[in-house]
Amino acid sequence: MVPGSVRDAMRSFVHTQPSTRVVFGTGTFDRLADEVRRVGARRALVVSTPGRHQLADEAGRGLGVLLAGLFTEAMMHVPIENARAAREAAARVDADCAVAIGGGSAIGVAKAIALERTLPIVAVPTTYSGSEMTPIYGLTEGGVKRSGRDVRVRPGTVLYDPALTVSLPPRVSGSSGMNAIAHAVEALYAADATPISSLLAAEAIGALARSLPVVVKAPANLDGRADALYGAWLAGSALAIASMSLHHKLCHALAGAFNLPHAELHAVVLPHATAFNAEAAPEAMRTIAEALHVPDAAQGLYDLAVAIGAPLSLEEIGMPEDGLDFAAQLAVRNPYDDPRPIDQGGVRALLDDAYYGRRPAAAAALRAR
Ligand code: NAD
Repeated sequence: MVPGSVRDAMRSFVHTQPSTRVVFGTGTFDRLADEVRRVGARRALVVSTPGRHQLADEAGRGLGVLLAGLFTEAMMHVPIENARAAREAAARVDADCAVAIGGGSAIGVAKAIALERTLPIVAVPTTYSGSEMTPIYGLTEGGVKRSGRDVRVRPGTVLYDPALTVSLPPRVSGSSGMNAIAHAVEALYAADATPISSLLAAEAIGALARSLPVVVKAPANLDGRADALYGAWLAGSALAIASMSLHHKLCHALAGAFNLPHAELHAVVLPHATAFNAEAAPEAMRTIAEALHVPDAAQGLYDLAVAIGAPLSLEEIGMPEDGLDFAAQLAVRNPYDDPRPIDQGGVRALLDDAYYGRRPAAAAALRAR
């Protein structure tokens, strides 16, 4: 059956099909050199965060003569100084390709290089951030993160190797998976959703909802890891097509203002942002609930977060309570598309629920109020 959100998106749409070569499967990491050669590169700079440096070394050994250098200092949210250091490293070795190995942080720094040098990116993701599928980049300067879209930063090739994700700790897997689900949730009610982005989003939520409980319980379960990466791929693909709304904008503002961890923040806010939009986006809610096999979308997301041990409250991830008013002001400062008009009082109530980690009310109960 065609999900209602897909029918919704079919009314009128413009769809640009992004193209990325995806090489998927356990052991595909061994094909890195072939894939770098395939994009015509001869001097690859391998980019990782300090935590993934051993994997970066391994990639370097696999690349052999194609390795020009390593940059293993990538940082979350791409501080401008970090972007400059990575660009200098690329210039020093005259890199003609960036190989990003790791989560969204490593991929983000490779994107900062590509933005300046216009070189291809080969990405080897090890989290579920989905950044590898998008033309979206971010740069942080003076505590403010700016993001933009530019086709030059979208990786041309992505190697998904589930074996590289077995070391992802349960809590990081859970939060990162909720981050991926957030892309899919917002893609479903985006004003520029297309039938394809909605299909990708619905399938992504289903794949992640069934695989995340498996991988947090048994991190080395390769079938579960493959299913989770499949969901992350689709969620990132939906993010590449559809615009994001309140949830992403709010997380963006909170992360910048209070230096909160990215995936954990998405995990906490998602059920509440979904509840906020429940009445205004009923078809998307039905699709999300169907994909989760639950009666209510927001409650289903909250219960999934509980089941996979993801953080539930802003309090536990370091948000100061006296920052909530300021955060609500930030959220309404720049107007943007959202199914429900954004008002400071509504966002402040959302933040209160998120701060204390309350289970959101069901949409039916909200309607009855
Ligand atoms: P991350 O890349 O910082 O990784 C999170 C943590 O997990 C790090 O400590 C890392 O070392 C560790 N880790 C990664 N892979 C591991 C593995 N296989 N085993 C063990 N540990 C591992 O975090 P993230 O959530 O993947 O990415 C966050 C960044 O990505 C943010 O800056 C965010 O803005 C950006 N992002 C961008 C997009 C986009 O489309 N541009 C989409 C999503 C996220």
